[in-house]
Amino acid sequence: MDNRYDVIVVGAGNGGLAAAANTAKAGLKTLLLEKHNLPGGCATSFRRGRFEFEPSLHELCSVGTAEKPNTVYKVLDELGTKINWEYEHDIFRVINKAGNYDLVLKAGIEDFCQSVDDAVPGCKENVRAFLALKPKIDAAIAYIYAMKGKPKGLTMLLKHTDFMRVAGHTVEQVMTALGIPKAAQDIINTYWGYLGVPTDELNAMHFLNMVHDYVVDGAAMPRHRSHEMSLALVDVIVKNGGEVRYNSEVTKFLYNEDGSVAGVVANGEELYSKEVISNVIPNNVFNMSDQSVIPEQNLKLANARDFGISVATIYLGLDCSVEELGLKDYTVFIQGHPDPRVQNDTRLDDGLYIVNCLNNVIPDSSPEGTCTLFFTMPIYGGDVPKDLKPEDYKKWKNALAKKYIEDAEKALNISIMPHIEEISVATPVTFARYLGTPEGTIYGYRLSGWDNLMARTAGEKTDYAIPGLSFCGGHYIRGDGYSCAYIMGDTIGKRVAKRIKGGA
Ligand SMILES: Cc1cc2nc3c(=O)[nH]c(=O)nc-3n(C[C@H](O)[C@H](O)[C@H](O)COP(=O)(O)OP(=O)(O)OC[C@H]3O[C@@H](n4cnc5c(N)ncnc54)[C@H](O)[C@@H]3O)c2cc1C
Repeated sequence: MDNRYDVIVVGAGNGGLAAAANTAKAGLKTLLLEKHNLPGGCATSFRRGRFEFEPSLHELCSVGTAEKPNTVYKVLDELGTKINWEYEHDIFRVINKAGNYDLVLKAGIEDFCQSVDDAVPGCKENVRAFLALKPKIDAAIAYIYAMKGKPKGLTMLLKHTDFMRVAGHTVEQVMTALGIPKAAQDIINTYWGYLGVPTDELNAMHFLNMVHDYVVDGAAMPRHRSHEMSLALVDVIVKNGGEVRYNSEVTKFLYNEDGSVAGVVANGEELYSKEVISNVIPNNVFNMSDQSVIPEQNLKLANARDFGISVATIYLGLDCSVEELGLKDYTVFIQGHPDPRVQNDTRLDDGLYIVNCLNNVIPDSSPEGTCTLFFTMPIYGGDVPKDLKPEDYKKWKNALAKKYIEDAEKALNISIMPHIEEISVATPVTFARYLGTPEGTIYGYRLSGWDNLMARTAGEKTDYAIPGLSFCGGHYIRGDGYSCAYIMGDTIGKRVAKRIKGGA
């Protein structure tokens, strides 16, 4: 078998799929290697009894519609996929268990600002000013890219003043500067759970990227769950002559004498390529490499970065319809305390968790007369008790699940327990095993302090400077989430294709 390719992509998560689809479409001989027997990474699917569960996707941002497509729509559409999009028209419902509020935030800038204003009167224009920063940030980042990472200082100061004001600050610093009252900040900042970093620490640009697009476009999801997108991208790769190998875990990265990447080893076979794109986090790649060839600065950077948060999840198949259950919302955030930092610090106790009911967006997503619930609790890999014996693990995770289900019954005033037909519980241990990520992080590196969008963009050329090796996915520049992984996969796939074809 010919073991030489133009491009080898390691990992068929969202980033790897988008990258491989691009290189295959550009006519390059592409090989995509995936350790599991199916594509998608987080964007996959599993069955229990008569239920098929969505394992990860709550909602996708930056999609838009056919009439008004946003970035993710364009990326997937231009690759030739046809996704059946469904939309959640409210942003979310948030219940504060201390009785501070139970409210629904609406999509659309006007309705969103009004719904925050209804809860905290007088803050509407301040919230609007916050959202209005997003296009300005986009313009500044586009300019930085156009200047190949070397923007002119004066232009930045004069033309991209708001970007300069926001870039180094946390969400809460920017909101406070704009006069948004703390109570309104807390309501909007409920969304920290989707980025895994409390808003007194999270850089404002990351948050704005996500929140603005959810507000403008509403949240989207494919009719046949995230797996629809994964399968559609595999189709693009295969139709364009690319090869996808499952059950093919890469165990080694190979390097030439000059330090450039030469290929990889999977299932004991050496496979060579002009370039390798890794959907696998740099720490794992370096552990699979002869570390004497990795520039010291790259190793130091990987060691200096913190891993992002993980989650515990509960997937429930219920033997009653959603009407019988009595839940009308798709996304409900339930919290003990309004402040994101307190929610983070009291996680696993009285922090923040999310309950999704897909039937409220896609009524027939489970068999007739049934419905599904999907609980998500942001927790860290380190929250799994260190002294937990393997034989006690199930007991620990089931107790955790019971606690959250009972809590949700009270908060939502519904009865869940008697209706459970199927249950599956995942923890950071599950995600570490399935995705292979350190500490089971689902979000790559923590978006905090110095490791923010600005620093990552500025350091793009030098941070991981191994010739022929590129990274893409949730661990890369834009940070976590489906949209970021697709966008980075698309960007890197196009860049590598251009380089190999002699255009760069
Ligand atoms: C429970 C949960 C809920 C989430 N909710 C949302 C949400 O609502 N919205 C949102 O935008 N994001 C959400 N996310 C985050 C989002 O799913 C991820 O950020 C994104 O999918 C990451 O994509 P990725 O391309 O980085 O790759 P990953 O999904 O991490 O995939 C990497 C792939 O590489 C493969 N691999 C690893 N090592 C090797 C190896 N050595 N050889 C070969 N293959 C290998 C893995 O099997 C996997 O298929 C959620 C994640 C989880 C787990």
